[in-house]
Amino acid sequence: MGAKRINKSRRRFLKKSVVAGGTILATSGLKPFSVLIFAAKEPEDTLNPWYGIGIDIEKCIGCGMCAKSCKLENDVPQEPFYFRSWVEQYTIKNDGTIKVESPNGGIDGFSQSVPDNEIFKTFFVPKMCNQCAKSPCTQVCPVGATYESPEGIALVDEEYCIGCRYCIQACPYGCRYLHPEKKTVDKCTLCYHRITKGLKPACMETCPTGARIYGDLNDKDGELSLFLKKHNCQILKPHLNTGSKLYYNELSAEVR
Ligand code: SF4
Ligand code: SF4
Repeated sequence: MGAKRINKSRRRFLKKSVVAGGTILATSGLKPFSVLIFAAKEPEDTLNPWYGIGIDIEKCIGCGMCAKSCKLENDVPQEPFYFRSWVEQYTIKNDGTIKVESPNGGIDGFSQSVPDNEIFKTFFVPKMCNQCAKSPCTQVCPVGATYESPEGIALVDEEYCIGCRYCIQACPYGCRYLHPEKKTVDKCTLCYHRITKGLKPACMETCPTGARIYGDLNDKDGELSLFLKKHNCQILKPHLNTGSKLYYNELSAEVR
């Protein structure tokens, strides 16, 4: 009886493995950019634009113009605890230790405190809302104040937000804060007020190297789709299955 049960469950396991293997094989037939978009959950409504973001780490020089212009554009409090977007400097030392710094969100630029001869590699990582297609922040909001726009942008309705902070806790990327005066939650909107008028988000308008782009993932020949086709992009924390639509070129495994 016991052996039979084991055999039966083993058969089930083998059967599942074959199916899973087939799925992996089928998936691996897709181009990498298709896998990334597929993982974010293709939108039901393909008539609207469905926005995502691309960041080319190779192009970022850590000037902080993006974080600075974001604060100005979106009335983010100037104190260095509040950011909609910020830049981190990663320094990987020869001994394998990692130093991550973001003084004032990178707004004033960076200096390097590690001596040259101890550095294995160093690079900058701009961060902002990942505009997750399966956003944990939206799922936990008890009053529906956080919602997803038809274009796939996670937004907060200040009229409804009760400042309970559940979404701040739920965001695995640290992209939300409680506005000290409004007492409601604030976050990157991909400059929704600008992009709906055909303007670029402030951070992308001011980036001197074009390290940040955004685009319509429904447009397979658009700038973002071409960026995804050209580069082998990665997302942050893929194991959390948030459906992140923030794609990085040259994302090192050390980045969290
Ligand atoms: S990054 Fe955070 S705030 Fe942005 S959609 Fe994802 S969970 Fe929400
Ligand atoms: S403005 Fe561009 S180059 Fe400067 S820190 Fe931001 S992403 Fe990097």
